[in-house]
Formats: sequence, C-alpha cells, structure tokens
Amino acid sequence: MTKDYYDVLGVPRDASAEQIKKAYRKLAMKYHPDVADTADAAEKFKEIGEAYEVLHDSNKRAMYDRGVDPMAAGGFGGAQGFGFPGGSAGFDFTNLVDAMFGQGATRGPRSRVRRGQDALVRMSLTLPEAAFGITKPLRVETAVLCSTCNGTGARAGSEPVTCSTCHGQGDVTQIQRSFLGDIRTTQPCPVCRGYGTVIPNPCGECSGEGRVRSSRTINVKIPAGVNAGNRIHLESQGEVGPGGGPAGDLYVELGVEPHDTFTRKGDDLEMVVKLPMTAAALGTEVTLPTLEAERDDLDADLGTVRLSVPSGTQSGTRIAIAGRGVPRLRGAGRGDLGVTLLVQTPGRLDDHQRELLRQLAEARGEGQEEVAVERHHKGVFGWLKDAFTQ
Ligand SMILES: [Zn+2]
Ligand SMILES: [Zn+2]
Repeated sequence: MTKDYYDVLGVPRDASAEQIKKAYRKLAMKYHPDVADTADAAEKFKEIGEAYEVLHDSNKRAMYDRGVDPMAAGGFGGAQGFGFPGGSAGFDFTNLVDAMFGQGATRGPRSRVRRGQDALVRMSLTLPEAAFGITKPLRVETAVLCSTCNGTGARAGSEPVTCSTCHGQGDVTQIQRSFLGDIRTTQPCPVCRGYGTVIPNPCGECSGEGRVRSSRTINVKIPAGVNAGNRIHLESQGEVGPGGGPAGDLYVELGVEPHDTFTRKGDDLEMVVKLPMTAAALGTEVTLPTLEAERDDLDADLGTVRLSVPSGTQSGTRIAIAGRGVPRLRGAGRGDLGVTLLVQTPGRLDDHQRELLRQLAEARGEGQEEVAVERHHKGVFGWLKDAFTQ
C-alpha cells in the first residue's frame, strides 16, 4: 500500500523543493525520537523521513507522481536507472539528520535510524542479452527491514528507554584535574553507544538492529547495448539502514560471456566467414545467421542477413553491413556487422580439378604460381612430416 507522502509532510502536490524541505525540517524536529515523548514519535519520524526521501529527489518524486512507490519494500518498484560507478547523487539521510540535530562532530544523542549502505552485485549476460536488452531475475541478499519489530529494534510491547549513564545526552564528559587546569573530555556514551537510549528488550529476530539479512529475487531491466563493466543503478534496493533506516542503492555490475560466432568491438559485431576460392573469384551472395537468431522474441526476419561478395574478393577482406551491429546504449541506431572473409584454397584436388586449375593458370599466365601450388599442396606440416620420415 502506497502512503501519501504529500499528506505526511502536509504540503500541496505542487509544493516547491524549498517548501518540502521546510516542512520536513519542522516535522523532523518535532518528532525526532530524542525530543518527542509521544509513543508513536519514532514511527512518525520514520514516515516523515521516507516521505522526504521520496519528495526531495526529483526522480523519485516523478516516479511517485506516476503511481510507483520508490520506497515500497520487496518488489522491484520500477526504481531503475542506468548509471555508472560514482554517478550516484545519493542523498545522505544520516548527514542531514546529523546536521539538523547538531550531531556527528558536535554533541548530543545520535539517531539509531540511518541510511543503509549501497550494495554491489554481479550479473552475467549472454551477448544477445547484452546487445538487445532483457529483463532478468537476480537473486540478491541484503539487509531488509525487520518485520517483527518494524525496524524499532525493540521486542513487541517494549520501547527504548533513556540511558541512565548519560541521561539521554548520548555522550559523557569527564573532568581531569591537572597542573595546567581542568581538562574536559567528551566521548560518546559507552553504555548506549551515543544513542541516548538503550533497548532493554531487544527484538529476538534482529537482536535490536531493526533489520535482518534476507535473500530476494528482483527483476532487473537491462537496456539494449550494455557492455561488460557497465553498472545498472537501482535506487533504494540496497541495504536497509540501522534502525530500519532508508535503504541504500543497489548497483548491478554486468559481465558478458564470450560468444562462439560473434565478437563485439564498440557498437560493431564482428564475424568471420569462410568462402570457397571459386566463390571469392566469381562473386556470390550468401545468407548469414545473425545474433538476433538467438532471440525468439525478435522479428524472425532479423535472424538472417544477405551478404553480397563481389567477384575478386581477397582473403581477409572485411565487409560492413550497416545497422546490424549492437544498438547504441546512448543515442539512436546500431553499429555495423563486420564480416571478415577467409578465402579457402581447395585442399584436396582430384586429377580433373587439378587439370582445370592448370588450364586456368595457363590462361592467366600464372606458371610460376602453379609450381608453388604443387609444392605446398600437402600443407606445411605434411611437408615437414615427409622431410623427417623419408
Ligand atoms: Zn526486529
Ligand atoms: Zn548513554
């Protein structure tokens, strides 16, 4: 069920970024578990955090406005985007909370609720999958919200209580007398680890962490044209934070398996085709299988391509078929299909074939080469073998 995040923050649907920020700031101050004493403050604070997480981010907000909840747990909420390493403009929930409540470097109890870590998983693709795109299930193991305590870390019916050592301050100050005067040192409270509260009855499921490790399957949409080393950026599909904090992002790093027939060079696909000497000399038209032939969800007509080989083609010639390579990841169109032709010299000749070739050679005045054909017709290794066994 999707929450109305605008309602949660009490702002109109066309609220400006500034309005959203202001509303969040005001509510977060009011409901922060360390200042509010009502029973539902923690829950409310989390709700506000979620609402802000979605509405402050123009991408997530746009998604939410389209009816997709980017914070929805479990399923793959369409929160996908294509990204590269380091491209994450991730919002640091912890830092903002810290800055607002004077925590981090300064004094005071810190929040148990923090944003989770980003996660990186690897996914292997076949060449057709990488070239033409696919939606593929991926098993990921991350921390998810503990459903037993709903992220609070406290056993049902219990609540965190104010730490008696620091009296909820989160840090303790010691005064040491020395001949230079009093030295004050302030450190995070060792009993509550700076939270200002302790959980006397931790949730049995998550041991008070508010999150548990769980494995789930998400469907990852791979755009056409990706290559090995590219990363798919899935927002809020990473680790849920301590205290049930907002999830980090998930990065899926792609690998591409080698293919028997095709290799990839940039946006071009390359293949090697063997051609009889006579066909290369006379010219021909051949039908070649394509990479699309391995995808039954693509137009069957794309499964083959016609290649015109002009007469007199030399071995090693590359012919480019425009627009039959890999679709470009960014921008329109496709690369080329490069076909390199290997002209096959006939290896075993019967008397009749040899006579025909001899006549051809004579007609072309190629007497010297005719001698060369005789000398190498067994192949270099056959010749070497004869030399050793005679
Ligand atoms: Zn729990
Ligand atoms: Zn304490």
